[in-house]
Amino acid sequence: MSSFAGEFLVSVARLLWPDTCVACGTNDRTNQGFCEDCGRQLLSVAALEACPRCGSTVGPGLGAGEDGCSRCPDVMFRFHRVVRLGPYVAPLRAAIRQMKYCRWGRGIRELGGLLAEAVSARCAGERLDVVVPVPMHWLRRLGRGWNHSGSLAQGVARRLKLPFGDELVRVRNTPPQVWLPASRRAANVRGAFAVLRPKALAGATVLLVDDVMTTGATANEAARTLRRAGAERVILAVLARAEPPAAYAHRARV
Ligand SMILES: [Zn+2]
Ligand SMILES: [Zn+2]
Repeated sequence: MSSFAGEFLVSVARLLWPDTCVACGTNDRTNQGFCEDCGRQLLSVAALEACPRCGSTVGPGLGAGEDGCSRCPDVMFRFHRVVRLGPYVAPLRAAIRQMKYCRWGRGIRELGGLLAEAVSARCAGERLDVVVPVPMHWLRRLGRGWNHSGSLAQGVARRLKLPFGDELVRVRNTPPQVWLPASRRAANVRGAFAVLRPKALAGATVLLVDDVMTTGATANEAARTLRRAGAERVILAVLARAEPPAAYAHRARV
């Protein structure tokens, strides 16, 4: 079945049975939005150890400490830490695509709740002051009629009982990163963000929220902008980290 046909069928199932699984659309939801099969897969990928600095899956012989791992870029990211639910594979990939393209409010709530739990567990000693989404340009938001990263960040903020901040804005409508090779992504987003009311973020630790991290270029530019505006620390929270299949194949049975 084509992925479009699959997504369409999940959308129909969702209309008929609102309690369907957020990833596969089956209607025997058991826990936090995922059916038993998808829940098992989620547990398997969420258990994979990740580098706290770049979010890459680390395995045997590829340990990561607070300073990073062998997959970290030579010039370190401007955010201080990455929290992720797992790699961008089943069932996270399907759940994120449903959330993003089908405007599914419950999918966002369930995924936002899980991400908030991951942040609580992995940032226990961290003082978080405000939750800020990686913003979309208003033209793209208008075209899509939906701002999924904003809704996701609002859900995370509610769960963590933290204020939601809309100070970070996108001032340049850049071509989607997915169209570009990794080597051109940093230049594509350079200067794309600005901070309104920088005083509100002075000295703050910001929890920056996005759906998927691929090369990290967009989140890096957003973090650079936040820190130039006075934020002291930036923690990046993403639902999934896209990485080469070889990075997790030896650990996950997905
Ligand atoms: Zn499922
Ligand atoms: Zn790393």
